[in-house]
Amino acid sequence: MHPEGATRGYLSTLLGCYCPRCRKGALFQHPVSLRVGRNMEMHRACPVCAQPTEIEVGFYYGTGYVSYLIAVAISALSFLLWWLLIGFSFSDRRFFWWLGCNSVGLLLGQPWLMRFSRAFWLSCFVSYDPHWRTNPPDAGERHNAEQANNW
Ligand SMILES: [Zn+2]
Repeated sequence: MHPEGATRGYLSTLLGCYCPRCRKGALFQHPVSLRVGRNMEMHRACPVCAQPTEIEVGFYYGTGYVSYLIAVAISALSFLLWWLLIGFSFSDRRFFWWLGCNSVGLLLGQPWLMRFSRAFWLSCFVSYDPHWRTNPPDAGERHNAEQANNW
């Protein structure tokens, strides 16, 4: 088992937007919200293990690509499910109904999707440390507090 009592696996850490290093601390300050600014307010460091959440300037710039790829994957999956369950035809508007339903679903899921993308992006660079209580986190380099969270 996990020596430091990790209660989450990798996937549930990502889905719940927890710190990838200790898998216990929340990355975000508030629950998921439709208010975009408030939704994306992150802790400067993990409240449990002190892992910095922005490890270099512009760190989260790459999450745009992550959320784009996830949105494309969700759209492909919903297209496939719609095709299998409802079907498409040239003689009616089922394609446009799928298009509308998929767009509304993506818009409603956007607050969580943006958070998930950040959690995933951070987990690509910070791995789980089973001895996080005794090992200090790597200090981030090239910090610029004035530009934090501007990306
Ligand atoms: Zn942590």
